[in-house]
Amino acid sequence: MVKAFLIKYSEIGIKGKNRYMFEDALRDRVKEKLEKCEGEFLVERENGRIYVEAKSEYDFEEVVGQLSKCFGIAHICPVVLVEDKTFEIVCKELVDHMKEELGDREFTFKVFAKRSDKNYVMTSPEICREAGAYIIDHIPGAKVDVHHPEVSVNIEIRHRAYVYVSSIKGPGGMPVGTSGKAMLLLSGGIDSPVAGYMMAKRGVRIEAVYFHAPPYTSERAKQKVVDLAELVSDYAGEIRLHVVNFTDIQMYIYDKCPHDELTIIMRRYMMKIAEHIAGETDCMSLITGESVGQVASQTMQSLVATNAVCRMPVFRPVIAFDKQDIIDIAEKINTFETSILPYEDCCTTFVAKHPVTKPDLYKIEKSERNLEEKIDEMFEKAVSEREIISVKM
Ligand code: ATP
Ligand code: MG
Repeated sequence: MVKAFLIKYSEIGIKGKNRYMFEDALRDRVKEKLEKCEGEFLVERENGRIYVEAKSEYDFEEVVGQLSKCFGIAHICPVVLVEDKTFEIVCKELVDHMKEELGDREFTFKVFAKRSDKNYVMTSPEICREAGAYIIDHIPGAKVDVHHPEVSVNIEIRHRAYVYVSSIKGPGGMPVGTSGKAMLLLSGGIDSPVAGYMMAKRGVRIEAVYFHAPPYTSERAKQKVVDLAELVSDYAGEIRLHVVNFTDIQMYIYDKCPHDELTIIMRRYMMKIAEHIAGETDCMSLITGESVGQVASQTMQSLVATNAVCRMPVFRPVIAFDKQDIIDIAEKINTFETSILPYEDCCTTFVAKHPVTKPDLYKIEKSERNLEEKIDEMFEKAVSEREIISVKM
Protein backbone atom coordinates (compact mmCIF):
# COMPACT_ATOMS: atom_id res chain seq x y z
CA MET A 1 0.00 0.00 0.00
CA VAL A 2 1.15 3.51 -0.72
CA LYS A 3 2.39 4.99 2.53
CA ALA A 4 4.65 7.69 1.20
CA PHE A 5 5.14 10.29 -1.50
CA LEU A 6 8.30 11.31 -3.18
CA ILE A 7 8.18 14.92 -4.25
CA LYS A 8 10.30 15.99 -7.18
CA TYR A 9 11.00 19.54 -8.15
CA SER A 10 12.54 21.09 -11.16
CA GLU A 11 16.06 22.28 -10.49
CA ILE A 12 16.13 25.10 -12.99
CA GLY A 13 17.27 28.31 -11.38
CA ILE A 14 17.99 26.74 -8.02
CA LYS A 15 21.64 25.98 -8.26
CA GLY A 16 24.17 26.98 -5.66
CA LYS A 17 23.25 29.03 -2.64
CA ASN A 18 19.59 29.41 -3.62
CA ARG A 19 19.05 25.72 -3.49
CA TYR A 20 18.75 25.44 0.29
CA MET A 21 16.41 28.36 0.44
CA PHE A 22 14.25 26.79 -2.23
CA GLU A 23 14.24 23.35 -0.62
CA ASP A 24 13.54 24.61 2.88
CA ALA A 25 10.70 26.77 1.60
CA LEU A 26 9.24 23.88 -0.36
CA ARG A 27 9.45 21.58 2.65
CA ASP A 28 7.68 24.21 4.78
CA ARG A 29 4.97 24.76 2.15
CA VAL A 30 4.45 20.99 1.87
CA LYS A 31 4.07 20.77 5.66
CA GLU A 32 1.51 23.57 5.63
CA LYS A 33 -0.50 21.78 2.97
CA LEU A 34 -0.40 18.49 4.86
CA GLU A 35 -1.59 20.17 8.04
CA LYS A 36 -4.89 20.61 6.25
CA CYS A 37 -5.17 16.87 5.63
CA GLU A 38 -6.51 14.19 7.89
CA GLY A 39 -3.65 12.17 9.43
CA GLU A 40 -0.04 12.50 10.63
CA PHE A 41 2.84 12.97 8.22
CA LEU A 42 6.59 13.10 8.40
CA VAL A 43 8.27 15.42 5.89
CA GLU A 44 11.99 15.05 5.17
CA ARG A 45 14.30 16.75 2.75
CA GLU A 46 17.15 14.65 1.35
CA ASN A 47 19.32 14.46 -1.76
CA GLY A 48 17.35 16.92 -3.82
CA ARG A 49 14.01 15.39 -2.98
CA ILE A 50 11.31 15.71 -0.40
CA TYR A 51 9.86 12.61 1.17
CA VAL A 52 6.46 12.54 2.80
CA GLU A 53 5.54 9.57 4.92
CA ALA A 54 2.10 8.91 6.33
CA LYS A 55 2.34 7.95 9.99
CA SER A 56 -1.35 7.15 10.29
CA GLU A 57 -4.41 6.51 8.18
CA TYR A 58 -4.87 9.19 5.53
CA ASP A 59 -6.93 10.01 2.47
CA PHE A 60 -4.88 9.58 -0.72
CA GLU A 61 -7.05 11.89 -2.85
CA GLU A 62 -6.97 14.59 -0.22
CA VAL A 63 -3.17 14.53 0.06
CA VAL A 64 -2.66 14.58 -3.71
CA GLY A 65 -5.26 17.36 -4.01
CA GLN A 66 -3.43 19.52 -1.47
CA LEU A 67 0.03 18.87 -2.93
CA SER A 68 -1.31 19.75 -6.38
CA LYS A 69 -1.75 23.31 -5.07
CA CYS A 70 1.75 23.56 -3.66
CA PHE A 71 3.94 25.58 -6.02
CA GLY A 72 7.45 24.28 -6.60
CA ILE A 73 6.40 20.66 -7.04
CA ALA A 74 7.11 19.20 -10.47
CA HIS A 75 5.93 15.64 -9.74
CA ILE A 76 4.26 13.74 -6.94
CA CYS A 77 5.16 10.04 -6.87
CA PRO A 78 3.11 7.72 -4.66
CA VAL A 79 5.62 5.33 -3.11
CA VAL A 80 5.41 1.95 -1.44
CA LEU A 81 7.75 1.65 1.53
CA VAL A 82 9.39 -1.70 2.07
CA GLU A 83 10.74 -2.03 5.61
CA ASP A 84 12.71 -5.19 4.90
CA LYS A 85 15.30 -4.43 2.24
CA THR A 86 15.95 -8.07 1.35
CA PHE A 87 16.02 -7.99 -2.45
CA GLU A 88 13.39 -10.74 -3.00
CA ILE A 89 10.98 -8.99 -0.66
CA VAL A 90 11.50 -5.66 -2.42
CA CYS A 91 10.83 -7.33 -5.79
CA LYS A 92 7.70 -9.03 -4.51
CA GLU A 93 6.29 -5.77 -3.11
CA LEU A 94 7.21 -4.03 -6.34
CA VAL A 95 5.34 -6.54 -8.50
CA ASP A 96 2.26 -6.35 -6.24
CA HIS A 97 2.34 -2.58 -6.55
CA MET A 98 2.72 -2.74 -10.34
CA LYS A 99 -0.22 -5.11 -10.68
CA GLU A 100 -2.32 -2.78 -8.57
CA GLU A 101 -1.33 0.31 -10.56
CA LEU A 102 -1.26 -1.13 -14.07
CA GLY A 103 -3.75 -4.01 -14.04
CA ASP A 104 -3.07 -6.78 -16.56
CA ARG A 105 -2.46 -4.63 -19.61
CA GLU A 106 0.65 -5.00 -21.72
CA PHE A 107 3.33 -2.38 -21.26
CA THR A 108 7.01 -1.68 -21.76
CA PHE A 109 9.18 -0.68 -18.85
CA LYS A 110 12.63 0.20 -17.67
CA VAL A 111 13.97 -0.09 -14.14
CA PHE A 112 15.81 2.81 -12.49
CA ALA A 113 17.66 2.19 -9.27
CA LYS A 114 19.21 4.54 -6.74
CA ARG A 115 21.19 3.61 -3.67
CA SER A 116 21.82 6.02 -0.85
CA ASP A 117 22.66 3.00 1.34
CA LYS A 118 26.08 2.26 -0.14
CA ASN A 119 26.46 -0.87 1.99
CA TYR A 120 23.61 -2.57 0.22
CA VAL A 121 24.51 -6.00 -1.15
CA MET A 122 23.87 -5.06 -4.78
CA THR A 123 24.99 -2.19 -6.98
CA SER A 124 22.45 -0.06 -8.85
CA PRO A 125 23.06 -1.80 -12.24
CA GLU A 126 22.61 -5.18 -10.54
CA ILE A 127 19.36 -4.05 -8.96
CA CYS A 128 18.07 -2.89 -12.37
CA ARG A 129 19.00 -6.10 -14.10
CA GLU A 130 17.70 -8.47 -11.43
CA ALA A 131 14.49 -6.56 -10.78
CA GLY A 132 13.83 -6.38 -14.54
CA ALA A 133 14.15 -10.15 -14.82
CA TYR A 134 11.87 -10.65 -11.79
CA ILE A 135 9.19 -8.40 -13.32
CA ILE A 136 9.27 -10.25 -16.65
CA ASP A 137 8.90 -13.56 -14.81
CA HIS A 138 5.94 -12.38 -12.73
CA ILE A 139 3.97 -10.02 -14.97
CA PRO A 140 2.96 -11.59 -18.31
CA GLY A 141 2.31 -8.30 -20.17
CA ALA A 142 5.62 -6.65 -19.19
CA LYS A 143 8.40 -6.10 -21.75
CA VAL A 144 11.65 -4.22 -21.38
CA ASP A 145 12.27 -1.13 -23.50
CA VAL A 146 15.33 0.78 -22.37
CA HIS A 147 14.86 3.61 -24.88
CA HIS A 148 11.18 4.59 -24.73
CA PRO A 149 9.60 2.77 -21.79
CA GLU A 150 5.92 3.43 -21.08
CA VAL A 151 6.46 2.77 -17.41
CA SER A 152 9.44 3.91 -15.36
CA VAL A 153 9.93 1.49 -12.51
CA ASN A 154 11.87 3.06 -9.67
CA ILE A 155 13.65 1.39 -6.78
CA GLU A 156 15.46 3.43 -4.17
CA ILE A 157 17.42 1.81 -1.41
CA ARG A 158 17.66 4.17 1.56
CA HIS A 159 17.30 3.16 5.22
CA ARG A 160 14.30 1.34 3.79
CA ALA A 161 13.42 0.51 0.22
CA TYR A 162 11.11 2.76 -1.81
CA VAL A 163 9.39 1.56 -4.94
CA TYR A 164 7.19 3.55 -7.28
CA VAL A 165 5.90 3.44 -10.84
CA SER A 166 3.56 6.37 -11.21
CA SER A 167 4.05 10.06 -11.15
CA ILE A 168 1.39 12.74 -10.89
CA LYS A 169 2.15 16.10 -12.45
CA GLY A 170 2.53 18.86 -9.86
CA PRO A 171 1.65 22.53 -10.31
CA GLY A 172 5.21 23.65 -11.16
CA GLY A 173 6.33 27.15 -10.25
CA MET A 174 8.40 28.17 -7.24
CA PRO A 175 7.60 27.72 -3.54
CA VAL A 176 5.75 30.75 -2.19
CA GLY A 177 8.11 32.88 -0.16
CA THR A 178 11.19 32.43 -2.34
CA SER A 179 10.62 35.50 -4.53
CA GLY A 180 9.86 38.32 -2.11
CA LYS A 181 6.50 39.86 -1.27
CA ALA A 182 4.19 42.05 -3.35
CA MET A 183 1.01 44.03 -2.79
CA LEU A 184 -1.90 42.87 -4.94
CA LEU A 185 -4.66 45.35 -5.75
CA LEU A 186 -7.53 42.95 -5.32
CA SER A 187 -10.96 43.94 -6.58
CA GLY A 188 -14.02 41.76 -6.79
CA GLY A 189 -13.45 41.17 -10.50
CA ILE A 190 -12.14 38.25 -12.51
CA ASP A 191 -8.68 39.53 -13.33
CA SER A 192 -6.96 40.51 -10.11
CA PRO A 193 -7.36 37.14 -8.30
CA VAL A 194 -5.82 35.49 -11.37
CA ALA A 195 -2.98 38.04 -11.35
CA GLY A 196 -2.28 37.24 -7.68
CA TYR A 197 -2.33 33.51 -8.35
CA MET A 198 0.13 33.89 -11.24
CA MET A 199 2.64 35.85 -9.18
CA ALA A 200 2.30 33.41 -6.27
CA LYS A 201 3.13 30.66 -8.72
CA ARG A 202 6.49 32.33 -9.27
CA GLY A 203 7.15 32.17 -5.54
CA VAL A 204 5.93 35.66 -4.62
CA ARG A 205 4.24 36.03 -1.25
CA ILE A 206 1.04 38.05 -1.57
CA GLU A 207 -0.37 40.83 0.57
CA ALA A 208 -3.56 42.46 -0.77
CA VAL A 209 -5.41 45.75 -0.68
CA TYR A 210 -9.07 46.35 -1.45
CA PHE A 211 -10.69 49.78 -1.79
CA HIS A 212 -14.30 49.95 -0.81
CA ALA A 213 -16.71 52.84 -0.72
CA PRO A 214 -19.46 52.32 1.82
CA PRO A 215 -22.37 52.97 1.61
CA TYR A 216 -22.00 52.97 -2.20
CA THR A 217 -20.48 49.53 -2.03
CA SER A 218 -22.02 47.00 0.30
CA GLU A 219 -20.76 44.70 3.00
CA ARG A 220 -21.55 41.86 0.58
CA ALA A 221 -19.17 43.31 -2.00
CA LYS A 222 -16.44 43.44 0.63
CA GLN A 223 -17.18 39.87 1.75
CA LYS A 224 -16.83 38.78 -1.86
CA VAL A 225 -13.28 40.18 -1.93
CA VAL A 226 -12.47 38.46 1.37
CA ASP A 227 -13.77 35.23 -0.17
CA LEU A 228 -11.63 35.74 -3.27
CA ALA A 229 -8.55 36.39 -1.13
CA GLU A 230 -9.28 33.14 0.66
CA LEU A 231 -9.57 31.23 -2.62
CA VAL A 232 -6.25 32.67 -3.80
CA SER A 233 -4.70 31.76 -0.43
CA ASP A 234 -5.34 28.12 -1.21
CA TYR A 235 -2.37 28.49 -3.58
CA ALA A 236 -0.59 31.54 -2.19
CA GLY A 237 -0.71 30.70 1.52
CA GLU A 238 -1.92 33.15 4.14
CA ILE A 239 -2.83 36.58 2.75
CA ARG A 240 -3.22 39.76 4.76
CA LEU A 241 -5.96 41.83 3.18
CA HIS A 242 -5.95 45.58 3.84
CA VAL A 243 -9.42 47.02 3.42
CA VAL A 244 -9.24 50.75 2.76
CA ASN A 245 -12.26 53.02 3.02
CA PHE A 246 -12.08 55.04 -0.17
CA THR A 247 -15.41 56.89 0.06
CA ASP A 248 -14.16 60.31 1.17
CA ILE A 249 -11.40 60.40 -1.41
CA GLN A 250 -13.76 59.28 -4.14
CA MET A 251 -16.36 61.92 -3.23
CA TYR A 252 -13.70 64.58 -3.03
CA ILE A 253 -12.39 63.72 -6.50
CA TYR A 254 -15.98 63.70 -7.75
CA ASP A 255 -16.52 67.21 -6.39
CA LYS A 256 -13.27 68.73 -7.56
CA CYS A 257 -12.21 67.10 -10.81
CA PRO A 258 -13.64 66.81 -14.34
CA HIS A 259 -15.91 63.79 -14.43
CA ASP A 260 -14.37 62.27 -17.53
CA GLU A 261 -11.10 62.02 -15.58
CA LEU A 262 -12.61 60.47 -12.45
CA THR A 263 -11.64 56.89 -13.14
CA ILE A 264 -8.04 57.73 -13.93
CA ILE A 265 -7.59 59.99 -10.94
CA MET A 266 -9.24 57.46 -8.65
CA ARG A 267 -6.98 54.75 -9.99
CA ARG A 268 -3.93 56.94 -9.45
CA TYR A 269 -4.93 57.37 -5.79
CA MET A 270 -5.52 53.65 -5.42
CA MET A 271 -2.01 52.98 -6.71
CA LYS A 272 -0.51 55.64 -4.42
CA ILE A 273 -2.23 54.25 -1.34
CA ALA A 274 -1.37 50.69 -2.31
CA GLU A 275 2.27 51.66 -2.74
CA HIS A 276 2.28 53.41 0.62
CA ILE A 277 0.87 50.35 2.41
CA ALA A 278 3.25 48.15 0.44
CA GLY A 279 6.16 50.18 1.78
CA GLU A 280 4.91 49.72 5.35
CA THR A 281 4.57 45.96 4.96
CA ASP A 282 7.88 44.97 3.31
CA CYS A 283 6.36 44.54 -0.13
CA MET A 284 8.73 45.37 -2.96
CA SER A 285 6.25 45.76 -5.78
CA LEU A 286 2.59 46.04 -6.75
CA ILE A 287 0.41 43.63 -8.73
CA THR A 288 -2.73 44.49 -10.68
CA GLY A 289 -5.10 42.58 -12.92
CA GLU A 290 -4.84 45.08 -15.75
CA SER A 291 -4.94 43.86 -19.34
CA VAL A 292 -4.11 46.24 -22.13
CA GLY A 293 -7.12 47.54 -24.05
CA GLN A 294 -9.71 45.78 -21.89
CA VAL A 295 -11.55 48.92 -20.75
CA ALA A 296 -11.11 52.71 -20.93
CA SER A 297 -8.89 52.74 -17.86
CA GLN A 298 -6.59 50.15 -19.44
CA THR A 299 -5.60 51.76 -22.71
CA MET A 300 -1.87 52.21 -23.07
CA GLN A 301 -2.27 55.92 -22.26
CA SER A 302 -4.33 55.17 -19.15
CA LEU A 303 -1.82 52.61 -17.96
CA VAL A 304 0.92 55.20 -18.41
CA ALA A 305 -1.09 57.73 -16.41
CA THR A 306 -1.75 55.36 -13.50
CA ASN A 307 1.74 53.95 -13.56
CA ALA A 308 3.24 57.43 -13.30
CA VAL A 309 2.39 57.78 -9.60
CA CYS A 310 4.37 54.69 -8.56
CA ARG A 311 8.03 54.29 -7.85
CA MET A 312 7.74 50.58 -7.16
CA PRO A 313 7.53 48.27 -10.14
CA VAL A 314 3.96 47.33 -11.00
CA PHE A 315 3.55 43.75 -12.20
CA ARG A 316 0.61 43.04 -14.47
CA PRO A 317 0.82 39.33 -15.23
CA VAL A 318 -2.35 39.27 -17.37
CA ILE A 319 -1.42 42.35 -19.40
CA ALA A 320 -1.37 40.48 -22.73
CA PHE A 321 -4.09 37.95 -21.98
CA ASP A 322 -7.46 37.85 -23.70
CA LYS A 323 -10.40 37.90 -21.33
CA GLN A 324 -11.22 34.29 -22.14
CA ASP A 325 -7.70 33.18 -21.25
CA ILE A 326 -8.03 34.91 -17.89
CA ILE A 327 -11.43 33.29 -17.38
CA ASP A 328 -9.94 29.87 -18.11
CA ILE A 329 -7.45 30.33 -15.28
CA ALA A 330 -10.13 31.77 -12.98
CA GLU A 331 -12.18 28.62 -13.58
CA LYS A 332 -9.22 26.38 -12.96
CA ILE A 333 -8.41 28.04 -9.62
CA ASN A 334 -12.06 28.22 -8.65
CA THR A 335 -12.36 32.01 -8.34
CA PHE A 336 -14.61 32.55 -11.36
CA GLU A 337 -17.95 31.70 -9.71
CA THR A 338 -17.24 34.15 -6.91
CA SER A 339 -15.87 36.87 -9.21
CA ILE A 340 -19.05 37.00 -11.31
CA LEU A 341 -21.37 37.55 -8.34
CA PRO A 342 -23.10 40.78 -9.26
CA TYR A 343 -22.12 43.14 -6.45
CA GLU A 344 -21.26 46.76 -7.07
CA ASP A 345 -17.67 47.87 -7.38
CA CYS A 346 -16.34 51.19 -6.15
CA CYS A 347 -15.03 52.06 -9.62
CA THR A 348 -18.38 51.60 -11.30
CA THR A 349 -20.39 53.59 -8.77
CA PHE A 350 -18.85 56.88 -9.83
CA VAL A 351 -17.96 56.10 -13.37
CA ALA A 352 -18.49 58.80 -16.02
CA LYS A 353 -20.56 58.13 -19.16
CA HIS A 354 -17.63 58.98 -21.38
CA PRO A 355 -14.36 58.53 -19.53
CA VAL A 356 -11.20 59.76 -21.23
CA THR A 357 -9.49 56.95 -23.02
CA LYS A 358 -6.32 58.86 -23.84
CA PRO A 359 -5.60 60.82 -20.70
CA ASP A 360 -2.99 63.52 -20.95
CA LEU A 361 -0.73 63.28 -17.93
CA TYR A 362 -0.19 67.03 -17.82
CA LYS A 363 -3.95 67.68 -17.72
CA ILE A 364 -4.55 65.00 -15.11
CA GLU A 365 -1.88 66.43 -12.84
CA LYS A 366 -3.41 69.86 -13.28
CA SER A 367 -6.85 68.55 -12.26
CA GLU A 368 -5.34 66.85 -9.23
CA ARG A 369 -4.13 70.23 -8.00
CA ASN A 370 -7.79 70.94 -7.18
CA LEU A 371 -7.42 68.33 -4.45
CA GLU A 372 -4.48 69.95 -2.68
CA GLU A 373 -6.42 71.34 0.25
CA LYS A 374 -7.61 68.09 1.82
CA ILE A 375 -6.15 65.14 -0.02
CA ASP A 376 -3.09 64.57 2.19
CA GLU A 377 -5.23 64.46 5.28
CA MET A 378 -7.71 62.09 3.61
CA PHE A 379 -4.91 59.89 2.36
CA GLU A 380 -3.43 59.67 5.86
CA LYS A 381 -6.85 58.83 7.33
CA ALA A 382 -7.63 56.16 4.74
CA VAL A 383 -4.29 54.48 5.39
CA SER A 384 -4.34 54.67 9.17
CA GLU A 385 -7.95 53.56 9.56
CA ARG A 386 -7.68 50.59 7.24
CA GLU A 387 -8.92 47.25 8.43
CA ILE A 388 -6.55 44.29 8.19
CA ILE A 389 -8.02 40.83 7.71
CA SER A 390 -5.84 37.71 7.58
CA VAL A 391 -7.21 35.00 5.37
CA LYS A 392 -6.12 31.43 4.94
CA MET A 393 -7.87 28.59 3.23
P1 ATP B 1 -10.74 42.99 -12.15
O1 ATP B 1 -11.45 41.92 -12.88
O2 ATP B 1 -9.47 42.54 -11.52
O3 ATP B 1 -11.63 43.76 -11.20
P2 ATP B 1 -11.28 44.89 -14.14
O4 ATP B 1 -11.27 44.33 -15.50
O5 ATP B 1 -12.58 45.08 -13.47
O6 ATP B 1 -10.30 44.02 -13.26
P3 ATP B 1 -10.55 47.60 -13.43
O7 ATP B 1 -11.76 47.75 -12.61
O8 ATP B 1 -10.18 48.65 -14.41
O9 ATP B 1 -10.48 46.25 -14.23
O10 ATP B 1 -9.33 47.43 -12.47
C1 ATP B 1 -8.04 47.18 -12.93
C2 ATP B 1 -7.21 46.70 -11.77
O11 ATP B 1 -7.19 47.67 -10.73
C3 ATP B 1 -7.80 45.46 -11.11
O12 ATP B 1 -7.38 44.29 -11.76
C4 ATP B 1 -7.25 45.57 -9.72
O13 ATP B 1 -5.91 45.12 -9.68
C5 ATP B 1 -7.27 47.06 -9.46
N1 ATP B 1 -8.53 47.48 -8.81
C6 ATP B 1 -9.65 47.93 -9.38
N2 ATP B 1 -10.61 48.22 -8.47
C7 ATP B 1 -10.06 47.93 -7.26
C8 ATP B 1 -10.53 47.97 -5.91
N3 ATP B 1 -11.77 48.39 -5.61
N4 ATP B 1 -9.70 47.59 -4.93
C9 ATP B 1 -8.44 47.14 -5.22
N5 ATP B 1 -7.97 47.07 -6.45
C10 ATP B 1 -8.75 47.46 -7.48
MG1 MG C 1 -12.82 45.58 -11.47
